[in-house]
Amino acid sequence: MPIDLIAFDADDTLWHNERHYQQAQRDLCDLLAPYADADAVNARLYEAEKRNLPLFGYGMKGFTLSMIEAAIALTDGQVRGTDVQAIIDLGKRLVQTPVELLPGAAETVEALAQHYPLMLLTKGDLMDQERKIAGSGLARHFDAVEIVSDKTPGTYASLLATHGVDPAGFLMVGNSLRSDVLPVVEIGGRAVYIPYHVTWVHEQAPEPGEGDTRYHTLERIDELPALVAELDGAS
Ligand SMILES: [Mg+2]
Repeated sequence: MPIDLIAFDADDTLWHNERHYQQAQRDLCDLLAPYADADAVNARLYEAEKRNLPLFGYGMKGFTLSMIEAAIALTDGQVRGTDVQAIIDLGKRLVQTPVELLPGAAETVEALAQHYPLMLLTKGDLMDQERKIAGSGLARHFDAVEIVSDKTPGTYASLLATHGVDPAGFLMVGNSLRSDVLPVVEIGGRAVYIPYHVTWVHEQAPEPGEGDTRYHTLERIDELPALVAELDGAS
Protein backbone atom coordinates (compact mmCIF):
# COMPACT_ATOMS: atom_id res chain seq x y z
CA MET A 1 0.00 0.00 0.00
CA PRO A 2 1.24 3.48 -0.77
CA ILE A 3 1.28 6.02 2.03
CA ASP A 4 -1.76 8.31 1.82
CA LEU A 5 -1.38 10.26 5.04
CA ILE A 6 1.41 10.80 7.54
CA ALA A 7 0.43 11.95 11.02
CA PHE A 8 2.83 13.35 13.61
CA ASP A 9 2.41 13.35 17.34
CA ALA A 10 3.46 16.73 18.74
CA ASP A 11 4.76 16.65 22.34
CA ASP A 12 8.22 15.09 22.51
CA THR A 13 8.00 14.12 18.84
CA LEU A 14 8.25 17.59 17.27
CA TRP A 15 9.00 19.70 20.34
CA HIS A 16 10.15 19.30 23.94
CA ASN A 17 7.40 18.79 26.50
CA GLU A 18 7.95 16.12 29.12
CA ARG A 19 11.09 17.73 30.48
CA HIS A 20 9.05 20.83 31.40
CA TYR A 21 6.59 18.64 33.32
CA GLN A 22 9.44 16.85 35.06
CA GLN A 23 10.95 20.20 36.05
CA ALA A 24 7.59 21.27 37.51
CA GLN A 25 7.49 17.97 39.39
CA ARG A 26 10.99 18.57 40.82
CA ASP A 27 9.90 22.05 41.91
CA LEU A 28 6.87 20.50 43.60
CA CYS A 29 9.20 18.13 45.47
CA ASP A 30 11.26 21.11 46.67
CA LEU A 31 8.13 22.91 47.80
CA LEU A 32 6.91 19.89 49.76
CA ALA A 33 10.33 18.87 51.09
CA PRO A 34 9.38 19.93 54.66
CA TYR A 35 6.56 17.35 54.58
CA ALA A 36 7.70 14.43 52.46
CA ASP A 37 10.65 13.11 50.49
CA ALA A 38 10.72 13.23 46.71
CA ASP A 39 9.77 9.58 46.25
CA ALA A 40 6.65 10.04 48.35
CA VAL A 41 5.71 13.21 46.45
CA ASN A 42 6.20 11.55 43.07
CA ALA A 43 4.20 8.50 44.08
CA ARG A 44 1.34 10.54 45.50
CA LEU A 45 1.29 12.79 42.45
CA TYR A 46 1.11 9.89 40.03
CA GLU A 47 -1.73 8.36 42.05
CA ALA A 48 -3.65 11.62 41.73
CA GLU A 49 -2.87 11.90 38.01
CA LYS A 50 -4.13 8.40 37.29
CA ARG A 51 -7.29 9.02 39.29
CA ASN A 52 -7.88 12.34 37.53
CA LEU A 53 -7.17 11.32 33.93
CA PRO A 54 -10.69 9.98 33.30
CA LEU A 55 -12.12 13.21 34.75
CA PHE A 56 -9.89 15.91 33.32
CA GLY A 57 -7.99 14.26 30.49
CA TYR A 58 -4.36 14.91 29.56
CA GLY A 59 -2.59 18.23 29.89
CA MET A 60 -1.49 20.95 32.27
CA LYS A 61 -4.82 21.70 33.95
CA GLY A 62 -5.31 18.14 35.18
CA PHE A 63 -1.62 18.00 36.10
CA THR A 64 -1.89 21.18 38.17
CA LEU A 65 -4.98 19.97 40.03
CA SER A 66 -3.22 16.67 40.69
CA MET A 67 -0.20 18.53 42.14
CA ILE A 68 -2.53 20.43 44.47
CA GLU A 69 -4.29 17.24 45.56
CA ALA A 70 -0.95 15.57 46.25
CA ALA A 71 0.10 18.58 48.34
CA ILE A 72 -3.13 18.46 50.36
CA ALA A 73 -2.71 14.73 51.01
CA LEU A 74 0.98 14.92 51.92
CA THR A 75 0.44 17.80 54.35
CA ASP A 76 -2.64 16.24 55.95
CA GLY A 77 -4.68 19.15 54.68
CA GLN A 78 -2.32 21.75 56.18
CA VAL A 79 -0.82 23.11 52.92
CA ARG A 80 -0.83 26.90 52.99
CA GLY A 81 -2.67 29.05 50.48
CA THR A 82 0.60 30.62 49.39
CA ASP A 83 1.97 27.15 48.59
CA VAL A 84 -1.16 26.30 46.61
CA GLN A 85 -0.58 29.51 44.66
CA ALA A 86 3.04 28.50 44.06
CA ILE A 87 1.79 25.16 42.65
CA ILE A 88 -0.71 26.91 40.39
CA ASP A 89 2.16 29.10 39.18
CA LEU A 90 4.13 25.95 38.28
CA GLY A 91 1.19 25.00 36.07
CA LYS A 92 0.98 28.46 34.53
CA ARG A 93 4.68 28.31 33.73
CA LEU A 94 3.98 25.23 31.61
CA VAL A 95 1.65 27.16 29.32
CA GLN A 96 4.08 30.05 29.06
CA THR A 97 7.17 28.08 28.15
CA PRO A 98 8.25 28.89 24.59
CA VAL A 99 8.05 26.03 22.11
CA GLU A 100 11.43 24.49 21.42
CA LEU A 101 11.54 22.19 18.40
CA LEU A 102 13.48 18.94 18.54
CA PRO A 103 16.57 18.83 16.30
CA GLY A 104 15.61 18.02 12.71
CA ALA A 105 11.85 18.36 13.29
CA ALA A 106 11.33 21.44 11.11
CA GLU A 107 13.43 20.11 8.22
CA THR A 108 11.73 16.71 8.31
CA VAL A 109 8.20 18.08 8.35
CA GLU A 110 9.03 20.54 5.60
CA ALA A 111 10.57 17.85 3.39
CA LEU A 112 7.70 15.37 3.81
CA ALA A 113 5.05 18.06 3.30
CA GLN A 114 6.23 18.39 -0.29
CA HIS A 115 5.20 14.82 -1.07
CA TYR A 116 2.52 13.76 1.41
CA PRO A 117 -0.54 15.14 3.15
CA LEU A 118 0.45 15.67 6.77
CA MET A 119 -1.64 15.67 9.93
CA LEU A 120 -0.71 16.89 13.38
CA LEU A 121 -2.38 14.61 15.90
CA THR A 122 -2.00 15.42 19.56
CA LYS A 123 -3.79 15.07 22.87
CA GLY A 124 -3.89 17.47 25.80
CA ASP A 125 -5.47 20.76 26.76
CA LEU A 126 -7.00 22.39 23.69
CA MET A 127 -5.69 25.91 24.25
CA ASP A 128 -2.23 24.78 25.29
CA GLN A 129 -1.90 22.57 22.21
CA GLU A 130 -3.15 25.37 19.95
CA ARG A 131 -0.59 27.70 21.51
CA LYS A 132 2.24 25.26 20.91
CA ILE A 133 1.19 24.56 17.33
CA ALA A 134 1.09 28.29 16.61
CA GLY A 135 4.41 28.82 18.38
CA SER A 136 6.10 25.97 16.54
CA GLY A 137 6.00 27.74 13.17
CA LEU A 138 5.12 24.38 11.59
CA ALA A 139 1.35 24.79 11.26
CA ARG A 140 1.47 25.72 7.57
CA HIS A 141 2.90 22.32 6.66
CA PHE A 142 -0.06 20.40 8.05
CA ASP A 143 -3.19 19.73 6.03
CA ALA A 144 -5.09 18.87 9.18
CA VAL A 145 -4.65 19.42 12.91
CA GLU A 146 -6.51 17.15 15.31
CA ILE A 147 -6.45 17.67 19.09
CA VAL A 148 -8.05 14.67 20.74
CA SER A 149 -8.73 13.68 24.35
CA ASP A 150 -7.10 10.27 24.03
CA LYS A 151 -5.37 8.10 21.42
CA THR A 152 -7.06 4.74 21.41
CA PRO A 153 -7.61 2.37 18.48
CA GLY A 154 -11.15 3.79 18.32
CA THR A 155 -9.84 7.36 18.13
CA TYR A 156 -7.62 6.50 15.20
CA ALA A 157 -10.30 4.49 13.41
CA SER A 158 -12.86 7.26 13.59
CA LEU A 159 -10.36 9.97 12.62
CA LEU A 160 -9.29 8.02 9.57
CA ALA A 161 -12.92 7.39 8.61
CA THR A 162 -13.62 11.12 8.90
CA HIS A 163 -10.66 11.92 6.65
CA GLY A 164 -11.45 9.10 4.22
CA VAL A 165 -8.10 7.37 4.71
CA ASP A 166 -7.68 3.58 4.70
CA PRO A 167 -5.68 2.47 7.79
CA ALA A 168 -3.33 0.56 5.48
CA GLY A 169 -2.34 3.87 3.87
CA PHE A 170 -1.79 5.60 7.20
CA LEU A 171 1.57 6.19 8.86
CA MET A 172 1.76 7.55 12.42
CA VAL A 173 4.97 8.98 13.87
CA GLY A 174 5.42 9.49 17.60
CA ASN A 175 7.39 9.04 20.81
CA SER A 176 4.83 6.97 22.72
CA LEU A 177 4.43 3.26 22.10
CA ARG A 178 1.25 3.31 24.11
CA SER A 179 -0.43 6.25 22.34
CA ASP A 180 1.20 6.66 18.94
CA VAL A 181 2.29 3.19 17.90
CA LEU A 182 0.40 0.22 19.36
CA PRO A 183 -3.17 1.49 18.76
CA VAL A 184 -2.30 2.34 15.15
CA VAL A 185 -0.79 -1.07 14.52
CA GLU A 186 -3.89 -2.60 16.09
CA ILE A 187 -6.20 -1.07 13.48
CA GLY A 188 -3.95 -2.07 10.57
CA GLY A 189 -1.97 1.14 10.16
CA ARG A 190 1.78 1.60 10.12
CA ALA A 191 3.77 3.40 12.79
CA VAL A 192 7.20 4.82 13.45
CA TYR A 193 8.41 4.97 17.03
CA ILE A 194 10.97 7.66 17.85
CA PRO A 195 11.71 7.48 21.60
CA TYR A 196 12.34 10.68 23.53
CA HIS A 197 14.93 10.55 26.30
CA VAL A 198 12.32 10.84 29.06
CA THR A 199 8.85 9.33 29.05
CA TRP A 200 6.05 10.04 31.49
CA VAL A 201 5.49 6.87 33.50
CA HIS A 202 1.89 6.70 32.27
CA GLU A 203 3.01 6.50 28.63
CA GLN A 204 5.55 3.78 29.24
CA ALA A 205 4.89 0.46 27.55
CA PRO A 206 7.02 -2.67 27.38
CA GLU A 207 9.79 -2.24 24.84
CA PRO A 208 9.39 -4.44 21.79
CA GLY A 209 11.11 -7.78 21.59
CA GLU A 210 13.92 -8.18 19.09
CA GLY A 211 12.54 -8.69 15.62
CA ASP A 212 9.15 -7.08 16.30
CA THR A 213 8.28 -6.04 12.76
CA ARG A 214 4.89 -4.47 13.37
CA TYR A 215 6.40 -1.00 13.42
CA HIS A 216 9.64 0.82 12.82
CA THR A 217 11.94 2.45 15.35
CA LEU A 218 14.18 5.41 14.60
CA GLU A 219 16.66 7.21 16.79
CA ARG A 220 16.11 10.63 15.29
CA ILE A 221 13.30 12.29 13.36
CA ASP A 222 15.61 13.33 10.51
CA GLU A 223 15.91 9.64 9.60
CA LEU A 224 12.21 9.62 8.72
CA PRO A 225 12.21 10.80 5.07
CA ALA A 226 14.50 7.94 4.05
CA LEU A 227 12.32 5.39 5.85
CA VAL A 228 9.16 6.81 4.28
CA ALA A 229 10.72 6.62 0.82
CA GLU A 230 11.67 3.02 1.50
CA LEU A 231 8.20 2.07 2.77
CA ASP A 232 6.42 3.84 -0.05
CA GLY A 233 8.78 2.51 -2.70
CA ALA A 234 8.53 -1.02 -1.41
CA SER A 235 4.74 -0.98 -1.59
MG1 LIG B 1 4.26 12.66 22.51
